[in-house]
Amino acid sequence: MQDEIARLASLKNLRLLDTLPSENFDRITRLAANIFGLPIAAVSLTDMNRQWFKSKVGVEHNEIPREKAPCAEVAETCRPFVIRDFQSDSCFADSTLGAAGIRFYAGAPLVTVDGFGLGALCVLGTEPRDVTDEEMATLCDLAAMVMDQVELTHALGRIEPISGLPNRFQLLNDLSDMALNHPREEWIISLLNLAQTEQFERLSRVLGPSYFDTVIQKVAKLLRDHVGDDRVPYHIGPTQFAFFAPAGIAVDAYVDLLAGKLREIELDGDLQMSMTPSIGIVAFQPASLSPEDVLRSLQSAVQDASESCNKIGLFSPAMDLRHRRNFRILQDFKGALTATDQLSLVFQPRMDLRTGEIGSAEALLRWDHPVLGPISPVEFIPVIEASSFARQLTDWVVDEALSNLASWGAHGLHFKLSINLSAANLDEQDFFERIMSKLSTHMVRPDQIELELTETVMMKETEGAFGLLDKLKSAGFQLAIDDFGTGYSSIAYLQKLPADVVKIDRSFVSEMENGNRERTLVRSMIDLAHSLAYRVVAEGVETVEAVNLLRAMGCDELQGYWLSRPIRGDDLFNWLVERDQPAALLSA
Ligand code: C2E
Ligand code: CA
Ligand code: CA
Repeated sequence: MQDEIARLASLKNLRLLDTLPSENFDRITRLAANIFGLPIAAVSLTDMNRQWFKSKVGVEHNEIPREKAPCAEVAETCRPFVIRDFQSDSCFADSTLGAAGIRFYAGAPLVTVDGFGLGALCVLGTEPRDVTDEEMATLCDLAAMVMDQVELTHALGRIEPISGLPNRFQLLNDLSDMALNHPREEWIISLLNLAQTEQFERLSRVLGPSYFDTVIQKVAKLLRDHVGDDRVPYHIGPTQFAFFAPAGIAVDAYVDLLAGKLREIELDGDLQMSMTPSIGIVAFQPASLSPEDVLRSLQSAVQDASESCNKIGLFSPAMDLRHRRNFRILQDFKGALTATDQLSLVFQPRMDLRTGEIGSAEALLRWDHPVLGPISPVEFIPVIEASSFARQLTDWVVDEALSNLASWGAHGLHFKLSINLSAANLDEQDFFERIMSKLSTHMVRPDQIELELTETVMMKETEGAFGLLDKLKSAGFQLAIDDFGTGYSSIAYLQKLPADVVKIDRSFVSEMENGNRERTLVRSMIDLAHSLAYRVVAEGVETVEAVNLLRAMGCDELQGYWLSRPIRGDDLFNWLVERDQPAALLSA
């Protein structure tokens, strides 16, 4: 006879009791009922005083008393057990099952690897019946499959070793089970992210990985207490925990509650070390959100949360749509770089305000996505710039711009192009060598190229960045400060920059016609830039009135719809020919 206390401990330890039904078990139970051609089957676990059904077919109850339950007999003996007819069985005739009209029972033991009988996989009928050896062997095989499932659920890849909590796979599994069993119930699930990935990596590097183990264990305990005895939190990523809200709580009240919890975590002496925990919250019905979508929505909500001031974010479909689109943009950009019909350059010419000459144009990137259609650079460039693709993006633009310049040159058009750079380009060790080698491939001189950088990017106080700008300038490239006025540059800084040109942001230019103040602002910007010896280009010039104002203010060049929208390379060439631009066209 096995030790009942140890047996019960082993059962408890598996955390199976009172868990939600699971299709993984139900599948086997249905099979057992079908094989025997009987209406009732169950995976029945023998708790201290009850038989609790992890899985069942044809039974209403979740449990029956342990006393005189044949499954308890199976659990205690670890042997198969058959009652051919309850009514002729002196022991079980008056049992709960017998009284409920059950006449036949066959049970195969559920035995753990260390020999504890947890309960039985059983089939029941309302008629007396015989069992063949073959049927019994099959039932035992199925019981073994149930145990495989039990062990698998418990051990194999479902528990995070550091926290001892179920992991992402278990959460996905539980979410699918909820969809089957409570499809229309309202659930609230939250995701606590302790630290941003970079913070986590930095802290792990500095303090060692075992430091994080302690933090994780502490937070796991905190969350266990938070969710209570009848639920468990999930440890779904190195720094991420998911947990369900108590039933019946309103979303707003719960957000407040979690805000308090978050402060508790932040104030905790052991935990408070340059981490910024955030919580994302998703309210959902399992029927309308797949398990994967629940996880994805949680990630989306926690990302929004990390960007918000109170670090708590309720999932918002609109934000999610943006994240999803950005994700798609990032994913598809690699393909766009090699496709022949997705990326292209358009060119927007620039005019000298004194002479009316057109000597240069800005290269602007376009993306025609095969499914999403044309995507504005305002949307996709920031996404790509924040990724490791910034390098390839600029490489693509430079190659394409140089090849256009070269082909115009072959037609006698001597022209300059402005190319927009990304912040990340300045950190690339080999940027200078790369652009020089591209120039020599296309036989273009550096003085035919102007590189545009926003003031914020130029101000990056890294030695490498300043060094690179100086090097580019010495090699003959022109440098332009793009979107001038939108950053926070001080005059002291502006003086230090090795730039030649300042491009006044179009927001100032377009407001110039609104009144005196706006006009004075543009005039002061022009004067300031001139006093620092920069050439001034006004961007976004749309009307003849603006042209006249800018000319009167002494602005050097303009760019904008008034002169031309950005156009394709061929069209630019024809446009210049039609305008009969003597400076640019030596022979056309
Ligand atoms: P940006 O460098 O300030 O480029 C000027 C933007 O103003 C262009 O928008 C242009 O089409 C628009 N624009 C020009 N004239 C007018 C006008 O008169 N009125 C109005 N309302 N708009 C005008 P676009 O092409 O959509 O580019 C937007 C931004 O995307 C650019 O701003 C630049 O920051 C970025 N971008 C575009 N191409 C590239 C590229 O090849 N590389 C990088 N790194 N960024 C690029
Ligand atoms: Ca620009
Ligand atoms: Ca600009």
